[in-house]
Amino acid sequence: MTRLPIAQYPDDDKPRDECGIFAVSGSRAAAELTFLGLYALQHRGQESAGIVAIDDEGEARAHKGMGQVNEAFDDATIRRLTGTVALGHVRYSTQGSSSLRNAQPVLVNYRHGPMALAHNGTLTNAVEIGERLSDEGAIFQTDSDSEVVIHLIARSRRDSPDQQVDDALSQLVGAFSLVLCVGRTIYVARDPRGFRPLVLGRLGDAAIVASETCALDIIGAEYVRDVGPGEVLRIDDGVVTRLRPLEPATPSPCLFELVYFARPDSRIWGCSVDRARRAFGRQLALEHPVEADCVFSVPDSSNSAALGYAEGSGLPFELALIRNHYVGRTFIHPTQTGRDFRVRVKYNPVAELIDGKRVIVVDDSLVRGTTSRGLVALLRESGAREIHFRVASPPIISPCYYGIDMPTRQELIGANHSVEEIGRHLGVESLGYLSLEGMLSAVEEFGPFCDACWTGNYPAPLVDFEHGFASATAGS
Ligand code: AMP
Repeated sequence: MTRLPIAQYPDDDKPRDECGIFAVSGSRAAAELTFLGLYALQHRGQESAGIVAIDDEGEARAHKGMGQVNEAFDDATIRRLTGTVALGHVRYSTQGSSSLRNAQPVLVNYRHGPMALAHNGTLTNAVEIGERLSDEGAIFQTDSDSEVVIHLIARSRRDSPDQQVDDALSQLVGAFSLVLCVGRTIYVARDPRGFRPLVLGRLGDAAIVASETCALDIIGAEYVRDVGPGEVLRIDDGVVTRLRPLEPATPSPCLFELVYFARPDSRIWGCSVDRARRAFGRQLALEHPVEADCVFSVPDSSNSAALGYAEGSGLPFELALIRNHYVGRTFIHPTQTGRDFRVRVKYNPVAELIDGKRVIVVDDSLVRGTTSRGLVALLRESGAREIHFRVASPPIISPCYYGIDMPTRQELIGANHSVEEIGRHLGVESLGYLSLEGMLSAVEEFGPFCDACWTGNYPAPLVDFEHGFASATAGS
């Protein structure tokens, strides 16, 4: 466990990505299935989408585009991606590097044929590896940490692709759930701590790999099992073989996936995401009860947690905030009007449910606190008599270095202010966060987890920071 004082990890300007990955081996409709799978994983990244398909002759075709899956692809592009093997990726990054250049899968030619990679997670030693490779003459085409994996495989002196992949993966530190293909062979791997999810499914004779089970559901594939932490698989025409696993470490899957990131209809870490969120909500009701007229969520991310709070408190659950589903994460707000539209564009209260009422708003997490502050102001305008804000996870005090896009520590409201100060800042009658112990006890049987964003205890070494590298690579 890396447990330096949190302050020793400097904030950096590292672009942090969130991603979803998908792969098919052994289906004539590989690209089409991948397109559908990416649709189901859209919540994991809305900035760019890409698919690489390999045909029967081992020729690779790629298409990548900016925007959501349906913007990046059309029928004709998908028809062009022929073959029974395909990899797909959706990506989101907030800072810098929002360009097609960094879209994945990365596709290159190497001595055993085309090689493509789709990666979810952030490598914590990518800069160190990148500098070493650059010194040796490597030329990088992207800002993405994923590219070092490609270089390590291509430059490995070991004999077979199996061994070269093993050689490369053994050098990585940090978070990686990845699918890569060398010719028509797919390799699948999850880092030894298993930070990011990855599941294996089957559709007839085809093997499917996806970040979340909701992507198996959309194509009617059967869930087979999770890819285990440190596990490395090879898939040839739908036939899955286990390769030598990576050096073991204590697994620490990301608990924030259960709190916010994964879809509630997915099962990750062996646990239904919806069930986990409801359990958080019920526990929150136990820890922070208050007399009120109704409970509601900040849709959609806190729906399950708010239902759990309503169950736990016995108070009625209302749909008092309506979300506009057509607002992307990269909404550009008009500034000329002098009004802050950021929150208004996304949410509108149902005034009849709020006017004169004592309300409990349940959100899944507070990051900067800006959305919540705007929401509280909206609820006041709608006549709320009392606003009790409840957060179904503890205060976030430390950024994620393993693949969740979070702002710098200075911007994390929970890192810099007490609960009382945050309550005053939001303008609420009361504020209550779920305790760390309460959250962990609600999902105890599925842990242990990475809880670094709430504790500052980073399970995988932050190699680049410890070596003082000013990072310039992106996670995935
Ligand atoms: P704010 O406190 O204004 O930064 O917004 C917090 C809300 O953003 C939470 O209620 C979550 O639903 C959502 N959220 C949490 N983590 C993230 C993330 N990594 N990226 C985007 N939205 C997030």
